[in-house]
Amino acid sequence: MPSEPIALETDVLVIGSGAAGMYAAIEAARGDARVFLVDRSLIGRGGATVMAQMTVAVALGEEVPDAPRHHYDDTIAAGRELCDERLTELLCNEAPACIRELDGWGVGWARKDGHITATTAPGHDRARCVYVDFINTGPAVSKTLRTVMARNKDIHKAGDICITDLVAGCDGEIAGAVGWHVGNGAPVRIAAKATVLATGGLTRIYRRNSASLNMGGDGYALALRAGASLIDMEFVQFFPIGHLAPRLVGMDPIMWDPFRYKLGGRLLNGRMEEFTSRYGSDEDGKYVLPRDLATYAILQEVEAGRGSPHGGAYLSFEHCSATALRAAFGPVIDRLAANNIDLTRMPIEVAPIAHYHMGGVIANAQMRTELAGLFAAGEVVGGANGANRLSGNAISEALVFGRRAGRSAAAHAKTIGRRDLRPQDARAALDLVSDGAAARRDLNTAAMIARLQAVMADEVGPFRTAAKLNRALGEIAALAGEMGTRPPRFAAGDDGFDLQRLEWFDLRNMLIVARAVAQSALARTESRGAHQREDFPQTAPAWRQHQRVRLADGALQLTGAPATALAS
Ligand SMILES: Cc1cc2nc3c(=O)[nH]c(=O)nc-3n(C[C@H](O)[C@H](O)[C@H](O)COP(=O)(O)OP(=O)(O)OC[C@H]3O[C@@H](n4cnc5c(N)ncnc54)[C@H](O)[C@@H]3O)c2cc1C
Repeated sequence: MPSEPIALETDVLVIGSGAAGMYAAIEAARGDARVFLVDRSLIGRGGATVMAQMTVAVALGEEVPDAPRHHYDDTIAAGRELCDERLTELLCNEAPACIRELDGWGVGWARKDGHITATTAPGHDRARCVYVDFINTGPAVSKTLRTVMARNKDIHKAGDICITDLVAGCDGEIAGAVGWHVGNGAPVRIAAKATVLATGGLTRIYRRNSASLNMGGDGYALALRAGASLIDMEFVQFFPIGHLAPRLVGMDPIMWDPFRYKLGGRLLNGRMEEFTSRYGSDEDGKYVLPRDLATYAILQEVEAGRGSPHGGAYLSFEHCSATALRAAFGPVIDRLAANNIDLTRMPIEVAPIAHYHMGGVIANAQMRTELAGLFAAGEVVGGANGANRLSGNAISEALVFGRRAGRSAAAHAKTIGRRDLRPQDARAALDLVSDGAAARRDLNTAAMIARLQAVMADEVGPFRTAAKLNRALGEIAALAGEMGTRPPRFAAGDDGFDLQRLEWFDLRNMLIVARAVAQSALARTESRGAHQREDFPQTAPAWRQHQRVRLADGALQLTGAPATALAS
């Protein structure tokens, strides 16, 4: 392990290169800042943005009249009275400008009769969701932002840099970050006048998820350890119809959604009965059920012993003709055929999978966090979507918040003459990434991550009880004890791509984030949106408030809940 860290310096450091981070980098450079964008993966390819297949919600009103206030009203309603209204307003008001700017950059929004066309999605009162073509929207957004960045000499980029801690300077402001180069093991220290956290979500902490390996919640953990608060950590969104069976190779697990937009599709239980009407919405082959209700309906059927063979529900397109299926699915039909799936003759099985996180770092409308010098953008920010997110709002959020954060960070950087990151400020964080502790071959980090994912799925899934949540907290504490406080070195004599070492750092973050989710879920003694307590099934008006989580002396402290609720 090289002992001398690579020391770098910039005006604005952006951590994470999804839509939020890339837009932040572009906007900060437009604000005359020198920008350094780092990602633990390849630039623009590590997180959710590049995997997002479907649509982006925006009130453009090109085909049917629309306005941001209608988008806002729908988002607030879906958020079950828990949205941070300033952030929701920002998301809805500024999404049109971002979408049009991407249009100008050549993203290729689908058009009909010259107008950017939009489709409907559950919870939106009109057709509001734009796309490039179904299954290519996120890749096109990512590619466009990468192309714009490539033309800008003020944006420097580095992949394979995994940031492990934020670092405060002698004035108490966040003054940069420490991490390591995954490819060669070298420690890295980056001094920055302003830092933007754009690290995406946390759904990798669950067994069934739509996440990449880079979505274990690093940003939430970095913020907590640096002293920032998080809100709404109990609200994890489960995508109701993730692919379950039969085996499907080469497609995204949430691929069925675009086809439900186009064709409807029947949700059936194990007895081949339609069941959504039992849970307040009669779909009748259409696609109207919001995500939290659909998740609830499927899991209730499974619990009642009416699930499909692999523990989910059937999704059937058998009522559609082969021609209609080919028209809707295009070449995807051939990929399904290669997997022996013929939709004219068989349903597939689907089940809820962890997909998005509504909670996150507290930021104001300028995307400033509680920590001076630290800004946040994208999924890592909490509050805009309250207790439940509407389809399509996440990419709008990443674009709008990214642009705002980049602008604010550049403005903040201008107020600072020079930023040094003294070795003593970064020492603790550097010691950890430089640590060459003896190999511990008994530590099976992959198995420990799998254990955490299992306990989160089984005990902190969409349906929670105090008993389940307490069991989860016990297992999380046990795992934290087992992993120890220093990273082991696994790759003997070779510091490059020590993936078990990377897993140790991942586990360090995943455990604290999992603890924040479980502890917040335990404290919220009501059911609301994506957080359903079987022991507290009602929505309680007294709980119409956020819970804040912060780290103090190694323990997570919750505030903001009514005293009566916290005591129970
Ligand atoms: C499969 C899938 C499909 C989706 N479809 C849609 C959709 O159709 N419409 C919609 O609105 N939303 C969709 N979403 C949600 C949406 O894509 C995300 O919420 C949004 O793209 C998040 O953008 P982001 O920039 O905040 O984070 P991301 O795009 O996730 O980017 C975060 C980046 O941070 C990097 N990173 C993380 N930790 C570190 C670290 N410690 N050091 C350095 N780098 C780090 C990651 O490698 C990654 O590149 C989907 C999500 C998934 C998973």
